[in-house]
Amino acid sequence: MKIIFTLIFSLILVAVVPAQLKPPIESAMDRFLRYVKIDTQSAEDAGKWPSTEKQYVLARLLEKELKELGATKVRVSEEGIVYAMIPGNLADNSKVPTIGFIAHMDTSPAVSGANINAIIHKNYQGGDIVLPNDKTQVITVKQNPNLKNLIGDDIITADGTTLLGSDDKAGIAELMTMIDTLKQNPSIKHGNVAIAFTPDEEVGGPMDKFDIEGWGAKFAYTVDGEQLGDISNETWSARTATVTFRGKSTHPGTAKGIMVNSSYAAGDFLSRFPAMIPNRPETTAGRGGFIHPYVGTMDVETSTVKILLRNFDIAGLAGQEKAIKRVIAATQRKYPNVKIEYGSVLGYLNMKEVLKDYPQLTDYAIEAAKRAGVTASLRPIRGGTDGSRLTARGLPTPNLFTGGHNFHGKLEFNSRKGLEKSTETLVHLVQIWAEKGK
Ligand SMILES: [Zn+2]
Repeated sequence: MKIIFTLIFSLILVAVVPAQLKPPIESAMDRFLRYVKIDTQSAEDAGKWPSTEKQYVLARLLEKELKELGATKVRVSEEGIVYAMIPGNLADNSKVPTIGFIAHMDTSPAVSGANINAIIHKNYQGGDIVLPNDKTQVITVKQNPNLKNLIGDDIITADGTTLLGSDDKAGIAELMTMIDTLKQNPSIKHGNVAIAFTPDEEVGGPMDKFDIEGWGAKFAYTVDGEQLGDISNETWSARTATVTFRGKSTHPGTAKGIMVNSSYAAGDFLSRFPAMIPNRPETTAGRGGFIHPYVGTMDVETSTVKILLRNFDIAGLAGQEKAIKRVIAATQRKYPNVKIEYGSVLGYLNMKEVLKDYPQLTDYAIEAAKRAGVTASLRPIRGGTDGSRLTARGLPTPNLFTGGHNFHGKLEFNSRKGLEKSTETLVHLVQIWAEKGK
Protein backbone atom coordinates (compact mmCIF):
# COMPACT_ATOMS: atom_id res chain seq x y z
CA MET A 1 0.00 0.00 0.00
CA LYS A 2 2.75 2.35 1.05
CA ILE A 3 4.68 1.57 -2.15
CA ILE A 4 1.64 2.30 -4.29
CA PHE A 5 1.06 5.57 -2.44
CA THR A 6 4.69 6.60 -2.98
CA LEU A 7 4.42 5.69 -6.64
CA ILE A 8 1.27 7.75 -7.13
CA PHE A 9 2.82 10.64 -5.25
CA SER A 10 5.93 10.46 -7.46
CA LEU A 11 3.79 10.45 -10.59
CA ILE A 12 1.97 13.56 -9.39
CA LEU A 13 5.31 15.25 -8.71
CA VAL A 14 6.56 14.45 -12.22
CA ALA A 15 3.40 15.96 -13.66
CA VAL A 16 3.57 19.15 -11.56
CA VAL A 17 7.29 20.00 -11.51
CA PRO A 18 8.48 21.13 -14.97
CA ALA A 19 11.42 19.32 -16.48
CA GLN A 20 14.74 20.77 -15.27
CA LEU A 21 16.66 22.67 -17.92
CA LYS A 22 19.93 21.20 -19.05
CA PRO A 23 22.76 23.50 -17.96
CA PRO A 24 24.78 25.39 -20.59
CA ILE A 25 28.14 23.89 -21.63
CA GLU A 26 29.90 26.82 -19.93
CA SER A 27 28.42 28.81 -17.04
CA ALA A 28 27.86 32.58 -17.26
CA MET A 29 30.47 32.98 -14.52
CA ASP A 30 33.17 31.00 -16.37
CA ARG A 31 32.47 32.84 -19.62
CA PHE A 32 32.60 36.17 -17.85
CA LEU A 33 35.95 35.40 -16.19
CA ARG A 34 37.34 34.37 -19.57
CA TYR A 35 36.14 37.49 -21.45
CA VAL A 36 37.33 40.04 -18.86
CA LYS A 37 40.90 38.79 -19.32
CA ILE A 38 40.88 40.17 -22.87
CA ASP A 39 41.87 43.87 -22.90
CA THR A 40 39.38 45.74 -25.12
CA GLN A 41 39.83 49.31 -23.91
CA SER A 42 38.61 51.85 -26.48
CA ALA A 43 40.22 55.24 -27.17
CA GLU A 44 38.81 58.75 -27.66
CA ASP A 45 39.37 60.54 -30.97
CA ALA A 46 41.12 57.65 -32.74
CA GLY A 47 39.53 58.72 -36.02
CA LYS A 48 38.66 55.10 -36.95
CA TRP A 49 36.42 52.20 -35.90
CA PRO A 50 37.20 50.17 -33.95
CA SER A 51 39.20 52.82 -32.11
CA THR A 52 41.71 50.18 -30.95
CA GLU A 53 42.87 47.08 -32.87
CA LYS A 54 42.74 44.92 -29.74
CA GLN A 55 38.94 44.96 -29.79
CA TYR A 56 39.20 42.64 -32.82
CA VAL A 57 40.66 39.92 -30.56
CA LEU A 58 37.39 39.58 -28.68
CA ALA A 59 35.34 40.13 -31.86
CA ARG A 60 37.08 37.20 -33.60
CA LEU A 61 36.73 34.97 -30.54
CA LEU A 62 32.99 35.71 -30.31
CA GLU A 63 32.63 35.08 -34.03
CA LYS A 64 34.16 31.61 -33.55
CA GLU A 65 32.13 30.79 -30.43
CA LEU A 66 28.86 31.96 -32.02
CA LYS A 67 29.47 29.60 -34.94
CA GLU A 68 30.20 26.74 -32.52
CA LEU A 69 26.90 27.43 -30.78
CA GLY A 70 25.01 27.09 -34.06
CA ALA A 71 24.47 30.76 -34.89
CA THR A 72 23.98 31.67 -38.55
CA LYS A 73 24.83 34.80 -40.56
CA VAL A 74 27.86 35.35 -38.29
CA ARG A 75 30.11 38.15 -39.53
CA VAL A 76 32.43 40.87 -38.27
CA SER A 77 31.91 44.16 -40.10
CA GLU A 78 34.60 46.61 -41.16
CA GLU A 79 33.83 48.69 -38.05
CA GLY A 80 34.31 45.65 -35.81
CA ILE A 81 30.62 44.94 -35.13
CA VAL A 82 29.87 41.20 -34.65
CA TYR A 83 26.48 40.25 -36.11
CA ALA A 84 24.76 36.85 -35.76
CA MET A 85 21.36 35.17 -35.89
CA ILE A 86 20.02 32.40 -33.68
CA PRO A 87 17.35 30.76 -35.83
CA GLY A 88 13.97 30.28 -34.15
CA ASN A 89 12.56 26.82 -33.46
CA LEU A 90 8.86 27.59 -33.98
CA ALA A 91 6.67 25.96 -36.63
CA ASP A 92 6.58 29.38 -38.33
CA ASN A 93 9.21 31.85 -37.09
CA SER A 94 7.73 34.63 -39.19
CA LYS A 95 4.70 34.70 -36.83
CA VAL A 96 6.69 36.42 -34.08
CA PRO A 97 9.03 39.42 -34.37
CA THR A 98 12.78 38.90 -34.58
CA ILE A 99 14.20 40.28 -31.32
CA GLY A 100 17.71 41.70 -31.20
CA PHE A 101 20.15 41.83 -28.29
CA ILE A 102 23.26 44.03 -28.11
CA ALA A 103 26.20 44.18 -25.73
CA HIS A 104 29.40 46.18 -26.19
CA MET A 105 32.90 44.73 -26.28
CA ASP A 106 34.98 47.74 -25.27
CA THR A 107 35.76 48.99 -21.80
CA SER A 108 36.01 52.62 -20.74
CA PRO A 109 39.14 54.67 -21.60
CA ALA A 110 38.87 56.12 -18.07
CA VAL A 111 40.63 53.25 -16.27
CA SER A 112 43.01 50.55 -17.49
CA GLY A 113 41.46 47.30 -18.69
CA ALA A 114 44.76 45.44 -19.19
CA ASN A 115 45.79 42.42 -17.08
CA ILE A 116 42.50 42.25 -15.23
CA ASN A 117 42.85 40.02 -12.21
CA ALA A 118 39.28 39.11 -11.26
CA ILE A 119 38.81 38.22 -7.60
CA ILE A 120 35.90 36.10 -6.40
CA HIS A 121 34.77 36.92 -2.87
CA LYS A 122 33.00 33.66 -2.10
CA ASN A 123 29.89 33.55 0.07
CA TYR A 124 29.94 37.29 0.90
CA GLN A 125 28.86 37.85 4.48
CA GLY A 126 28.42 41.64 4.53
CA GLY A 127 30.77 44.53 5.27
CA ASP A 128 33.12 46.64 3.16
CA ILE A 129 35.26 44.90 0.51
CA VAL A 130 38.91 45.99 0.43
CA LEU A 131 40.57 45.31 -2.92
CA PRO A 132 43.82 43.41 -2.27
CA ASN A 133 46.35 45.10 -4.56
CA ASP A 134 45.43 48.69 -3.63
CA LYS A 135 43.98 48.81 -0.15
CA THR A 136 42.78 52.39 -0.65
CA GLN A 137 40.20 50.98 -3.05
CA VAL A 138 37.26 49.94 -0.87
CA ILE A 139 33.73 49.00 -1.92
CA THR A 140 31.78 50.33 1.05
CA VAL A 141 28.31 49.33 2.19
CA LYS A 142 27.62 53.03 2.74
CA GLN A 143 28.18 53.90 -0.92
CA ASN A 144 26.81 50.58 -2.23
CA PRO A 145 23.62 49.87 -0.26
CA ASN A 146 22.77 47.09 -2.74
CA LEU A 147 25.55 44.99 -1.14
CA LYS A 148 23.09 44.01 1.58
CA ASN A 149 21.09 42.14 -1.10
CA LEU A 150 24.18 40.11 -2.02
CA ILE A 151 24.76 38.27 1.27
CA GLY A 152 25.66 34.66 0.45
CA ASP A 153 26.45 35.53 -3.17
CA ASP A 154 29.92 35.27 -4.77
CA ILE A 155 31.00 38.85 -5.52
CA ILE A 156 33.42 39.46 -8.39
CA THR A 157 35.76 42.48 -8.28
CA ALA A 158 39.04 43.54 -9.87
CA ASP A 159 42.15 43.63 -7.65
CA GLY A 160 42.16 47.41 -7.12
CA THR A 161 44.48 48.37 -9.99
CA THR A 162 42.09 48.12 -12.98
CA LEU A 163 38.41 48.21 -13.75
CA LEU A 164 36.63 44.84 -13.89
CA GLY A 165 35.10 45.16 -17.34
CA SER A 166 31.67 43.96 -16.23
CA ASP A 167 30.56 46.93 -18.35
CA ASP A 168 29.88 45.27 -20.66
CA LYS A 169 31.47 41.83 -20.72
CA ALA A 170 28.73 40.78 -18.31
CA GLY A 171 26.23 41.55 -21.09
CA ILE A 172 28.29 39.51 -23.57
CA ALA A 173 28.70 36.54 -21.19
CA GLU A 174 24.97 36.58 -20.38
CA LEU A 175 23.94 36.64 -24.04
CA MET A 176 26.39 33.87 -24.99
CA THR A 177 25.13 31.78 -22.06
CA MET A 178 21.54 32.42 -23.16
CA ILE A 179 22.45 31.12 -26.65
CA ASP A 180 24.21 28.12 -25.08
CA THR A 181 21.14 27.40 -22.89
CA LEU A 182 18.78 27.61 -25.88
CA LYS A 183 21.01 25.19 -27.78
CA GLN A 184 21.03 22.62 -24.95
CA ASN A 185 17.27 22.89 -24.48
CA PRO A 186 15.29 22.68 -27.74
CA SER A 187 12.14 22.47 -25.59
CA ILE A 188 12.48 26.24 -25.02
CA LYS A 189 10.45 27.73 -27.85
CA HIS A 190 11.67 31.01 -29.33
CA GLY A 191 11.53 33.01 -32.54
CA ASN A 192 14.56 34.32 -34.44
CA VAL A 193 17.02 36.05 -32.10
CA ALA A 194 19.48 38.55 -33.59
CA ILE A 195 22.75 39.16 -31.72
CA ALA A 196 25.24 42.03 -32.05
CA PHE A 197 28.41 42.83 -30.14
CA THR A 198 29.59 46.38 -30.72
CA PRO A 199 32.98 48.08 -30.33
CA ASP A 200 33.55 51.58 -28.94
CA GLU A 201 30.28 52.14 -27.08
CA GLU A 202 32.21 54.15 -24.49
CA VAL A 203 33.54 56.61 -27.08
CA GLY A 204 30.37 57.19 -29.12
CA GLY A 205 31.04 54.27 -31.51
CA PRO A 206 29.85 53.45 -35.02
CA MET A 207 26.09 53.13 -34.38
CA ASP A 208 25.35 55.31 -37.42
CA LYS A 209 26.91 52.47 -39.45
CA PHE A 210 24.98 49.71 -37.63
CA ASP A 211 23.29 47.55 -40.29
CA ILE A 212 19.75 47.58 -38.87
CA GLU A 213 18.20 46.14 -42.02
CA GLY A 214 20.72 43.35 -42.57
CA TRP A 215 20.58 42.42 -38.90
CA GLY A 216 16.84 41.84 -39.15
CA ALA A 217 15.52 42.69 -35.68
CA LYS A 218 12.18 44.46 -35.36
CA PHE A 219 12.84 45.39 -31.74
CA ALA A 220 16.02 45.16 -29.70
CA TYR A 221 17.47 45.42 -26.21
CA THR A 222 20.89 46.54 -25.10
CA VAL A 223 22.14 44.36 -22.24
CA ASP A 224 24.31 47.06 -20.66
CA GLY A 225 22.53 48.11 -17.46
CA GLU A 226 23.44 47.87 -13.81
CA GLN A 227 21.93 46.17 -10.78
CA LEU A 228 19.49 43.25 -11.02
CA GLY A 229 16.04 44.46 -12.02
CA ASP A 230 17.01 47.83 -13.53
CA ILE A 231 15.30 48.28 -16.89
CA SER A 232 15.61 51.58 -18.72
CA ASN A 233 13.39 53.01 -21.43
CA GLU A 234 14.47 56.58 -20.82
CA THR A 235 17.73 58.38 -21.46
CA TRP A 236 18.70 62.03 -21.47
CA SER A 237 17.77 64.44 -24.16
CA ALA A 238 21.12 66.06 -24.79
CA ARG A 239 22.37 69.36 -26.13
CA THR A 240 25.90 70.80 -26.20
CA ALA A 241 26.29 74.57 -26.03
CA THR A 242 29.36 76.65 -26.86
CA VAL A 243 29.78 80.14 -25.44
CA THR A 244 32.43 82.20 -27.25
CA PHE A 245 33.99 85.36 -25.75
CA ARG A 246 35.64 87.70 -28.27
CA GLY A 247 38.06 90.32 -27.03
CA LYS A 248 40.93 92.16 -28.71
CA SER A 249 44.54 91.03 -28.63
CA THR A 250 47.54 93.30 -29.01
CA HIS A 251 51.18 93.34 -27.90
CA PRO A 252 51.08 93.60 -24.10
CA GLY A 253 53.81 96.26 -24.19
CA THR A 254 51.62 98.67 -26.12
CA ALA A 255 48.22 97.45 -25.04
CA LYS A 256 47.09 100.41 -22.95
CA GLY A 257 43.54 101.39 -23.85
CA ILE A 258 43.44 98.83 -26.67
CA MET A 259 43.56 95.29 -25.32
CA VAL A 260 40.31 93.59 -24.34
CA ASN A 261 41.14 90.30 -22.58
CA SER A 262 38.32 87.83 -23.27
CA SER A 263 39.48 85.39 -20.60
CA TYR A 264 38.29 87.68 -17.78
CA ALA A 265 34.78 87.54 -19.22
CA ALA A 266 34.99 83.74 -19.51
CA GLY A 267 36.17 83.54 -15.90
CA ASP A 268 33.39 85.84 -14.75
CA PHE A 269 30.86 83.72 -16.65
CA LEU A 270 32.01 80.49 -14.96
CA SER A 271 32.21 82.05 -11.52
CA ARG A 272 28.49 82.87 -11.68
CA PHE A 273 27.44 79.22 -12.11
CA PRO A 274 27.24 78.10 -8.46
CA ALA A 275 24.84 80.96 -7.66
CA MET A 276 22.87 81.20 -10.90
CA ILE A 277 22.76 77.53 -12.02
CA PRO A 278 21.71 75.37 -9.09
CA ASN A 279 21.28 72.19 -11.17
CA ARG A 280 24.77 70.89 -11.88
CA PRO A 281 26.07 67.27 -12.02
CA GLU A 282 27.43 67.54 -8.50
CA THR A 283 24.06 68.67 -7.13
CA THR A 284 21.56 66.46 -8.98
CA ALA A 285 20.47 62.81 -9.16
CA GLY A 286 17.52 60.71 -10.34
CA ARG A 287 15.33 62.63 -12.75
CA GLY A 288 17.00 65.99 -12.21
CA GLY A 289 18.62 67.47 -15.32
CA PHE A 290 21.83 69.49 -15.21
CA ILE A 291 23.96 72.14 -16.89
CA HIS A 292 27.66 71.29 -16.95
CA PRO A 293 30.52 73.50 -18.23
CA TYR A 294 33.09 70.77 -18.88
CA VAL A 295 35.86 72.08 -21.12
CA GLY A 296 37.10 75.37 -22.51
CA THR A 297 39.91 77.38 -24.04
CA MET A 298 41.45 80.61 -22.78
CA ASP A 299 43.13 83.24 -24.88
CA VAL A 300 43.22 87.06 -24.92
CA GLU A 301 41.47 87.32 -28.28
CA THR A 302 38.99 84.42 -27.97
CA SER A 303 37.92 82.19 -25.09
CA THR A 304 35.32 79.43 -25.23
CA VAL A 305 33.36 77.37 -22.73
CA LYS A 306 31.56 74.19 -23.78
CA ILE A 307 28.54 73.20 -21.75
CA LEU A 308 26.52 69.97 -21.55
CA LEU A 309 22.75 70.36 -21.16
CA ARG A 310 21.01 67.18 -20.00
CA ASN A 311 17.31 66.75 -19.33
CA PHE A 312 14.74 63.95 -19.49
CA ASP A 313 12.21 66.47 -20.76
CA ILE A 314 12.86 68.08 -24.15
CA ALA A 315 11.06 71.23 -23.02
CA GLY A 316 13.48 71.29 -20.08
CA LEU A 317 16.40 71.74 -22.49
CA ALA A 318 14.86 74.99 -23.74
CA GLY A 319 14.59 76.23 -20.15
CA GLN A 320 18.23 75.35 -19.57
CA GLU A 321 19.27 77.34 -22.63
CA LYS A 322 17.43 80.36 -21.22
CA ALA A 323 19.23 79.93 -17.89
CA ILE A 324 22.64 79.98 -19.61
CA LYS A 325 21.63 83.09 -21.55
CA ARG A 326 20.79 84.85 -18.26
CA VAL A 327 24.35 84.15 -17.06
CA ILE A 328 25.70 85.47 -20.36
CA ALA A 329 23.63 88.67 -19.96
CA ALA A 330 25.06 89.23 -16.47
CA THR A 331 28.64 88.81 -17.73
CA GLN A 332 27.91 91.01 -20.74
CA ARG A 333 26.83 93.87 -18.47
CA LYS A 334 30.13 93.67 -16.60
CA TYR A 335 32.26 93.30 -19.76
CA PRO A 336 30.52 95.40 -22.42
CA ASN A 337 33.62 95.41 -24.67
CA VAL A 338 33.71 91.62 -24.98
CA LYS A 339 31.44 90.17 -27.63
CA ILE A 340 29.71 87.05 -26.29
CA GLU A 341 28.17 84.52 -28.69
CA TYR A 342 25.99 81.53 -27.89
CA GLY A 343 25.42 78.44 -30.04
CA SER A 344 24.16 74.90 -29.38
CA VAL A 345 23.63 71.57 -31.15
CA LEU A 346 21.22 68.75 -30.36
CA GLY A 347 23.04 65.53 -29.40
CA TYR A 348 20.31 62.91 -28.95
CA LEU A 349 16.73 62.65 -27.76
CA ASN A 350 15.24 60.75 -24.83
CA MET A 351 14.37 57.30 -26.26
CA LYS A 352 11.10 57.44 -24.33
CA GLU A 353 9.76 59.67 -27.11
CA VAL A 354 9.76 56.55 -29.34
CA LEU A 355 9.46 53.73 -26.78
CA LYS A 356 6.22 55.08 -25.33
CA ASP A 357 4.54 53.67 -28.47
CA TYR A 358 5.93 50.15 -27.80
CA PRO A 359 5.12 49.43 -24.14
CA GLN A 360 5.35 45.66 -24.75
CA LEU A 361 9.17 45.90 -24.88
CA THR A 362 9.46 46.90 -21.24
CA ASP A 363 6.34 44.97 -20.16
CA TYR A 364 7.81 41.69 -21.46
CA ALA A 365 11.20 42.45 -19.90
CA ILE A 366 9.56 43.08 -16.52
CA GLU A 367 7.62 39.79 -16.88
CA ALA A 368 10.84 37.93 -17.84
CA ALA A 369 12.62 39.29 -14.76
CA LYS A 370 9.67 38.23 -12.60
CA ARG A 371 9.83 34.67 -13.96
CA ALA A 372 13.54 34.65 -13.03
CA GLY A 373 12.62 35.74 -9.49
CA VAL A 374 13.90 39.32 -9.96
CA THR A 375 11.80 42.37 -9.10
CA ALA A 376 12.19 44.77 -12.00
CA SER A 377 11.82 48.52 -11.94
CA LEU A 378 12.11 51.21 -14.57
CA ARG A 379 15.04 53.51 -13.98
CA PRO A 380 15.95 56.37 -16.33
CA ILE A 381 19.60 56.39 -17.46
CA ARG A 382 21.50 59.60 -16.76
CA GLY A 383 23.36 59.16 -20.03
CA GLY A 384 22.93 57.79 -23.54
CA THR A 385 23.30 54.18 -24.80
CA ASP A 386 23.86 52.42 -28.11
CA GLY A 387 20.11 51.90 -27.83
CA SER A 388 19.30 55.61 -27.69
CA ARG A 389 21.04 56.04 -31.04
CA LEU A 390 19.36 52.96 -32.57
CA THR A 391 15.99 54.09 -31.23
CA ALA A 392 16.52 57.47 -32.89
CA ARG A 393 17.28 55.58 -36.12
CA GLY A 394 13.99 53.67 -35.92
CA LEU A 395 14.89 50.49 -34.01
CA PRO A 396 13.23 50.71 -30.58
CA THR A 397 15.88 49.53 -28.07
CA PRO A 398 15.50 49.81 -24.27
CA ASN A 399 18.25 48.71 -21.88
CA LEU A 400 18.35 45.67 -19.57
CA PHE A 401 20.31 44.98 -16.38
CA THR A 402 23.50 42.89 -16.21
CA GLY A 403 23.98 42.69 -12.44
CA GLY A 404 26.93 45.11 -12.59
CA HIS A 405 27.79 48.07 -10.34
CA ASN A 406 30.18 51.06 -10.29
CA PHE A 407 30.95 51.18 -14.02
CA HIS A 408 34.13 52.88 -15.33
CA GLY A 409 36.07 52.61 -12.09
CA LYS A 410 38.26 50.36 -10.00
CA LEU A 411 35.35 49.63 -7.64
CA GLU A 412 33.33 47.96 -10.40
CA PHE A 413 31.74 44.64 -9.38
CA ASN A 414 29.22 41.99 -10.34
CA SER A 415 28.25 38.67 -8.74
CA ARG A 416 27.48 35.07 -9.60
CA LYS A 417 23.78 35.66 -8.94
CA GLY A 418 23.92 38.89 -10.99
CA LEU A 419 25.26 37.00 -14.00
CA GLU A 420 22.98 33.97 -13.57
CA LYS A 421 19.73 35.86 -12.93
CA SER A 422 20.39 38.23 -15.83
CA THR A 423 20.96 35.22 -18.11
CA GLU A 424 17.80 33.53 -16.83
CA THR A 425 15.84 36.72 -17.54
CA LEU A 426 17.09 36.74 -21.15
CA VAL A 427 16.05 33.09 -21.64
CA HIS A 428 12.57 33.90 -20.31
CA LEU A 429 12.37 37.01 -22.45
CA VAL A 430 12.81 35.20 -25.79
CA GLN A 431 10.17 32.69 -24.64
CA ILE A 432 7.73 35.46 -23.74
CA TRP A 433 8.16 37.04 -27.19
CA ALA A 434 7.37 33.62 -28.73
CA GLU A 435 4.30 33.25 -26.49
CA LYS A 436 2.90 36.74 -26.90
CA GLY A 437 4.26 38.03 -30.20
CA LYS A 438 3.35 41.56 -31.52
ZN1 LIG B 1 28.28 49.91 -20.97
